[in-house]
Parts: sequence; C-alpha cells; structure tokens
Amino acid sequence: MTFFGARFAQLLFSLILSFIIVFTTQALENKSRNNNTVIMIGIDGLRANTFDTIAAPNMQMLAKSGVQRAMVPAMPTKTFVNFYSLATGLHPKHHGLISNYPYDRKIGRTFNRRTDVQDPKWWGGEPIWISAEKQGIKTATYFWVGSEVAIDGVQPSFWKPYNQQKDYTERVEEVLAWLAMPKKMRPQFITLYFSAIDSAAHTFGVNSKEEVNAVARVDKHIGELIAGLQKLGMYDNTNLILVSDHGMIDLSDDRVINIDQWADISTFIVPDWAPSRDTVFAPFLNIYGDARAIKEIAAQLKGKHPQMQVFRRDEFPSHYHFDHPDRGPDLMLLAEPGWSIFASKHKKPPEPRFSSGSFMATHGYDNRHTTMQAKFIASGPAFKPSNDNKSFDNIDVYSLIACILKIDPAINDGNIEHVNHLLHKPCD
Ligand SMILES: [Zn+2]
Repeated sequence: MTFFGARFAQLLFSLILSFIIVFTTQALENKSRNNNTVIMIGIDGLRANTFDTIAAPNMQMLAKSGVQRAMVPAMPTKTFVNFYSLATGLHPKHHGLISNYPYDRKIGRTFNRRTDVQDPKWWGGEPIWISAEKQGIKTATYFWVGSEVAIDGVQPSFWKPYNQQKDYTERVEEVLAWLAMPKKMRPQFITLYFSAIDSAAHTFGVNSKEEVNAVARVDKHIGELIAGLQKLGMYDNTNLILVSDHGMIDLSDDRVINIDQWADISTFIVPDWAPSRDTVFAPFLNIYGDARAIKEIAAQLKGKHPQMQVFRRDEFPSHYHFDHPDRGPDLMLLAEPGWSIFASKHKKPPEPRFSSGSFMATHGYDNRHTTMQAKFIASGPAFKPSNDNKSFDNIDVYSLIACILKIDPAINDGNIEHVNHLLHKPCD
C-alpha cells in the first residue's frame, strides 16, 4: 500500500468509526429519552386539601394512578414567588421574586408586571425549560411565571405572552398541536397554566359554589388533555405533573388589624400599595425605608396586636428564605392566617370589605401553615404509585423534572433525595 493509500484507508476507517459512534449515541439518546415527555400543569390556588370537599374526577384519577402529596410552598405564599420557585428549584432569596411585587433597592423601583416580565434583570436562576433547551431538549411553555424572559439568551422553543382571557380549550388544543408535530420539532417538556380556581376562591371564598365550579372547569380541561394524549397514542408515554402555588383561607371583617391607629407608614416604600390604591388589606406588608425610620416604626408596631408579627430584616424565621440581598424588606408585618392587615395612605377608616363579597379569601401567610399547603399530583411512566403522605418543598420539583428528562440540573436549593422515592428510577 502506498503512503497515500494507507492515509486514505486510515481516514476512511476513522470516518466510518465516527459515523458509528454518532449513530449509536443518537439511537441510545432517542431510546433513553423516548418515554420521557413531561407536561407540568400549574393550577393556581389548588389547595392541598381540595379533594376532601370538592370532586375532580380527572385529577383524582391521575392522583390514584400515580402519586399525590401536599407540597410546602415558599414564603411568602404568593403566586409569582411560588411558580418561579417551582420552575427554578430556588428559594426566593436566590431567584429574586420575593413577592408578587418585589421592590429592588439597586434598580430603585418596584417590579412592574406589565413591563418587566421580559426583562432578565428581575429574574434570577435557571428555569427548567432553560436547562432543558441548553442540553438539546425542545421545550414549550403555555404560560408560566418567568417563561417570557430570555435567560443567558435562551428561551423555550415555543412560548406565549400571558393572556388571562385565553380560552382553556384552546390552550389544551394548542399543547396537543405541539405534541402532534414531527418528532424533530416536538417539545419534550411543556407547561400549561390555569388561574380560574384561585380567582374564584379570592372573590367568593374557600368551598364557595364558585370555587367548586372552577375546580370542575379546570378538571374538565385536564380531561380534554388526557383524551387528546390518548388519541395521539402518547398518554402512556407522558408524565403529567400537576402543581399548585399555595393554599387559601377565608377572610373576615372581624379579623382586620388596622395599623393606622399605631403608626403612619405612608412615608415608606410599600410595594403592595398599587398606584391606583390608597388602602390595602394584606396578609403581610413588606416595608422599605431608612434605618432610623424603620427602627422607630418597628417599635411603634411591635407587640400591638396578638395576630400580627413584626419582623425587622435580621429577624425573619430561618425557614422563610426570602431575604434577597437587594430585595429583602427592611420590615415585614405578617398576620395570622385568616387575618388581614389594613393600612391607608390617608388614614381612612377601613370599610367593611369581605362581607361585601368583593374579596373573601387570600394567601401569603406562613408557608408551614396547613391552609397554605399546595398540591402535587403526578402520573406517568416515571412515577411509582405509592400511598405515603410525606410532603416535600416545592423547590424539589425542579430536580425531579431534571431527573425524568435526564438532564443535568443547574445549581438549585432542592434535594433530589426528598423526591427520589416517587420515581421508578431515582437519580443521584
Ligand atoms: Zn396563586
């Protein structure tokens, strides 16, 4: 063989070898990831104990065929805080969404839901769809807190700006259309979100006829999703994960703490005061101001009401994990579950509010309280049906999904060992 002949044979051999390697790896990857489609459905305000009093045949069927648990939400038990902890596996102090309206000292203002949802500076951490996309898995988000923002320049392959009015049947149909796409384009991780139960309970109360109807409505659409997956022949290969962000508790005109009588907080930054509102009835109030003024106001409010706790920044309970360096409040007033803190900018007396039916229930209280517990339901080939009722923290969901998708999780605060027992194939 000539020198060139030998070179050619060597080249041909290594070319064939690399083809074999590429194809085997691809085949192995396809095989190992084949059965791992995950759909995570966010059900706003689905209380851990909803099914004790309200029937939801489709969700209960999933729970029965898989696993269901109470899930401990992050503090404060608000929507943005918790859906973003579920997505990133991070405590609020690490992802930055420390309330629905976080105030940031460095940025110098409060988060604006209309203009900041696509601005990366508000959103810390790495949501699961970003981790998946970075590792070659296509994802699609049909609404989720934090899903509209590019992180490290990466976004889900398919995503939508939030539209609360969007018809629920159309949401499900569009998710099914994503799944019907050719395999090369098809997302393997999808989110879906429904807010109806939270809205109904806020306005009409826990176990109200309206909450019952909203649960039935969301359940019907879960049923449509299941039927659609069956029609596509994908139901047996799909893992459905239903998660909520917090629980809910009824309020009352008899449980209002009017702080106007002890202190004037109108000179402080109070992010929960929307520009359009002069008064607030809140489960908690985050307050920002200079050190001396905070010290004074804390002294005026401490010990004034048995159902109100007053925490300065170095006094938050250790399980709260929301003291973000730029966003942790200087002072937090926290009511007992079912109580609300009233404060006005102009010292107006509180008008009877809850009996009027405009605002009957809320959440945001201590994340270990029974009424604030969230719901976790999962069913599919990855999950091992079991009946133990050990709850876990919602920050553990991120690594659970990373494990099912067989991707490397980003740094997070969760612990896969807390949820490994739910899976047929545990992860390290
Ligand atoms: Zn919510």
